[in-house]
Amino acid sequence: MKIMKFGGTSVGKPERMHEVAGLVTADESEPRIVVLSAVSGTTNALVGISRQLAIGDKEAARLAIDALETHYQNFITKLVQSEPALGKARAVLQEHFEFLHIILRISWSEALNKDILAQGELLSTKLFCAYLEEQGIRYAMLPALDFMRIDANEEPRLDDIRTLLTAQLQQHPNIGLFVTQGYICRNARGEVDNLKRGGSDYSASLIAAAVSASACEIWTDISGMHNNDPRIVDRTVPVSRLSFDEAAELAYFGAKILHPASIWPAQQYNVPVKLLNTMEPSASGTLITSEAAAPGAKAIAAKDGITAVNIRSSRMLLAYGFLRRVFEVFEKNRTSIDMITTSEVAVSVTIDSASSLPAILEELAALGSVSVDGDQAIVSIVGHEIASDTSMLQRIFSSLEGVEIRMVSYGGSLHNISLLVAGEKKTEVLQRLNNGVFGL
Ligand code: ASP
Ligand code: MG
Repeated sequence: MKIMKFGGTSVGKPERMHEVAGLVTADESEPRIVVLSAVSGTTNALVGISRQLAIGDKEAARLAIDALETHYQNFITKLVQSEPALGKARAVLQEHFEFLHIILRISWSEALNKDILAQGELLSTKLFCAYLEEQGIRYAMLPALDFMRIDANEEPRLDDIRTLLTAQLQQHPNIGLFVTQGYICRNARGEVDNLKRGGSDYSASLIAAAVSASACEIWTDISGMHNNDPRIVDRTVPVSRLSFDEAAELAYFGAKILHPASIWPAQQYNVPVKLLNTMEPSASGTLITSEAAAPGAKAIAAKDGITAVNIRSSRMLLAYGFLRRVFEVFEKNRTSIDMITTSEVAVSVTIDSASSLPAILEELAALGSVSVDGDQAIVSIVGHEIASDTSMLQRIFSSLEGVEIRMVSYGGSLHNISLLVAGEKKTEVLQRLNNGVFGL
């Protein structure tokens, strides 16, 4: 069994959906589970609609729903040609847009919000299936809401996912092609929920782990992971091999190509992950496996919107328990810390979610004097054992001469050196490191 996940742009136009159908039927030597995101732009539109409803602006929500419906009406006329297939696609739109119109009349709740957000993947998969049917391609739909489960802490319940999915697969013994939704799931209360934005990769990896797949293919519109952010840096190159550890660090520290949580299920069940390009299917992309990678820097990634918090205690000198009390404040506020640096009297930490910052600052004030720097960026240089490359720090710092570096994290992981810089310096730092670290 092989998992093939396609992102929003890969199904973003009718002709792209046609290409996806070609890709998933090109090699029928083993069964495939196809995981689809919503058509690009749809989840953003749904987030907007839900927000408008939440603040009571029904008219704005209605306009946005109508605009989305028009978009899909045009979409299906190019997706399918035959009258029966068009009829089926129209019925799909009717079902889901009827739902979106009904919500205009009921009051907004967090549970309803999740229902709204789920419409994108439900639409994309059902429309894709209408096209498969028109082409006479045999498939079976595996509704994600029937097997994808998260617990009360919003963590996936892999054992339940496996049991439910296996039972579903057994109902279709002679089928080689399955289609399912990324992103959506049911929570501990049985309600529709999701794996957070970008979560379709996570769905694919969880499914891969649940069925012990031979590979988990993540299809996007770029040829694999690049050594640096290709959207803002000149002269980047694809990275052909990564270990799971390297990929996890890169995804966590900002490489947008892969959802950060999507590595662990594949890693735990040792399923190779391939990052492939729908626009260039023959390109080799990036292969991520458990094999220890060759030493050396592989890629640089950056994460924006970081807040640095500095806590200075006059009593930290020779005191123990100070760091524990600091960390407890973050734990209590369910905010995870990315980088830490300490001196004898002060500690600086970074967080990427500032939603609990006011509460955190209030509690930290009891421990010492606190200062905050917003709008920072973490730049991470990742590669197997790069921290033991004796020339690496020198190359990093000499290429960044003149740039103010707020924090440095070295030695926490052998495979990662991270710097904190002002957000506005990010692009310049990435570009300079591209030369300093990779000679590009
Ligand atoms: N459609 C969802 C999003 O845009 C999930 C995904 O595409 O991965 O976040
Ligand atoms: Mg994505």
